[in-house]
Amino acid sequence: LVSRKSKADDTVIRLGDTAIGGGQPVLVAGPCSVESREQVRRTAAALAEAGVPVIRGGAFKPRTSPYDFQGLGFEGLKLLKEAADEFGLLAISEIVDPRHLEQACDYVDIIQIGARNMHNFELLKAAGELRKPVLLKRGLAATMDEFLHAAEYIVSRGNGEVMLIERGIRTYEKWTRNTLDISAVPLLKRESHLPVLVDVSHSTGRKDIMAPCAKAALAAGADGIMVEVHPNPPEALSDADQQLDFDEFREFVREVKASGLYR
Ligand code: PEP
Ligand code: MN
Repeated sequence: LVSRKSKADDTVIRLGDTAIGGGQPVLVAGPCSVESREQVRRTAAALAEAGVPVIRGGAFKPRTSPYDFQGLGFEGLKLLKEAADEFGLLAISEIVDPRHLEQACDYVDIIQIGARNMHNFELLKAAGELRKPVLLKRGLAATMDEFLHAAEYIVSRGNGEVMLIERGIRTYEKWTRNTLDISAVPLLKRESHLPVLVDVSHSTGRKDIMAPCAKAALAAGADGIMVEVHPNPPEALSDADQQLDFDEFREFVREVKASGLYR
């Protein structure tokens, strides 16, 4: 069902005035984690000012260590929604437990399924029962075939509003956090009708190459870019090293716009 062979024209996901997959790329930005009302509100204000339509922010964090900040849970989703509503933004957040999906739909416009859960088939099936757009991240070591089959789990249950996002894969290279597989963009666009986005934060983990990587993604045909933004990155409770502060974010947007690939 996710294949071009079954549907030739691009799937466009419409949320209010925002269309994802319609030819005009979108920016999705926001903190790695929702940490406080003030933090997410300030970020939402900065995004609205920059014309970004979608705010991201994790409330259920799949952390490597159980001793690291695990997220604020539903309280975080409430704070995210509050900030999104105040500034007229759409909200996206990761859900890791199928039992949380339905309630989460009251707070977010798009459900994110994270890289670590791309192979969580019960979560995928449950997301397929929703009538809510889903952003599906590529697994840390997932092939194109596995990625598209994961999307098929959702779509085959009746939820056709799925977006794919390349977020870097594990390789031997250590200069970047993961390896951004730019070829995934034209491959997925060719093989599937679903919108394709690129996460330049988790794929590179390096602020100094995020703008060129975003431009490369857009030039390759991406329908959107995700980037992490935080009011005070050194103090962030997760991914402190890779989140852009507001000045860096404005510079990022300026540089990407200057390419003419995004307006
Ligand atoms: C995230 O986007 O918050 C995240 C945890 O990313 P990933 O699942 O790609 O590691
Ligand atoms: Mn993060």
